[in-house]
Amino acid sequence: MIVVKIGGAKGIDYDLVADDVAELVKVGQPLVIVHGGSALTNEVAAALGHPPQFVTSVSGFSSRRTDRRTLEIFEMVYCGQMNKGIVERLQQRGVNAVGLSGIDGRLWEGPRKDAIKIVDENGKRRVLRDDYTGKVEKVNTGLLQTLLDAGYTPVLTPPAISDEGEAINVDGDRAAAATAIALHAEALIMLSNVPGLLDDYPDEASLIHHIPGEKLDSFMAVAQDRMKKKVMGAGEALQGGVRRVIFGDARIEQPIQKALAGVGTVIGEAVD
Ligand code: ADP
Repeated sequence: MIVVKIGGAKGIDYDLVADDVAELVKVGQPLVIVHGGSALTNEVAAALGHPPQFVTSVSGFSSRRTDRRTLEIFEMVYCGQMNKGIVERLQQRGVNAVGLSGIDGRLWEGPRKDAIKIVDENGKRRVLRDDYTGKVEKVNTGLLQTLLDAGYTPVLTPPAISDEGEAINVDGDRAAAATAIALHAEALIMLSNVPGLLDDYPDEASLIHHIPGEKLDSFMAVAQDRMKKKVMGAGEALQGGVRRVIFGDARIEQPIQKALAGVGTVIGEAVD
């Protein structure tokens, strides 16, 4: 079992990723796909007159401010165009893909954060209480296994569902990590619009090829903004028993097979 997270940043080539998924599924490799949609969500939100806002937590992480309207727009894009776009591409290539959000069948469940401590533009600490965000703590592996056993390829997207049954925005990279752990995946592949973790971002020649699991913390400083969440997700996956996490490039041919062969940033067990 391999879990593949396809990012939502600009430049990702969904056709190349779908070609590769089809090749792997045809040779009998079970896959679960998780995807993002951040760039398109930002565009649609701006077009709908509700431009994205990002907040910085007191621990220095940036995340999307998710009021109820943002959550609705988020669902339009992630569960709508992004999810169906990937499912359609896979169906065209003979892969019987099924798109599900984390709400469906309580696929991804966890607590909603009832208060988020943030630092505002003026450096002042504030508490947000109307945010719909949280963290995946439980994965409905029974549902995923039922689909996989019947020959379907699940294509999963945030939001997740809170313990109280509300839709909550969760980080796709960390949800993918939770999924890989729950399914005892051999590897978690995170594809984005960069070759991997760059030591001197955005210089692509500074690609970091391998990071042993125990050294991962020291690379947190290299990752900026959203990349921090990926590094965090990678750490969670390794701690949860996934042997290898690979950050790969979603702009090249056979992005998944190349990542599995060690092209990108391999975190954890090295590729021979
Ligand atoms: P996705 O939505 O595709 O998962 P993100 O936008 O969440 O992607 O994260 C990937 C982005 O992180 C890259 O496009 C890049 O702009 C940014 N980034 C920040 N620091 C680094 C780094 N050290 N190495 C690579 N990318 C980085």
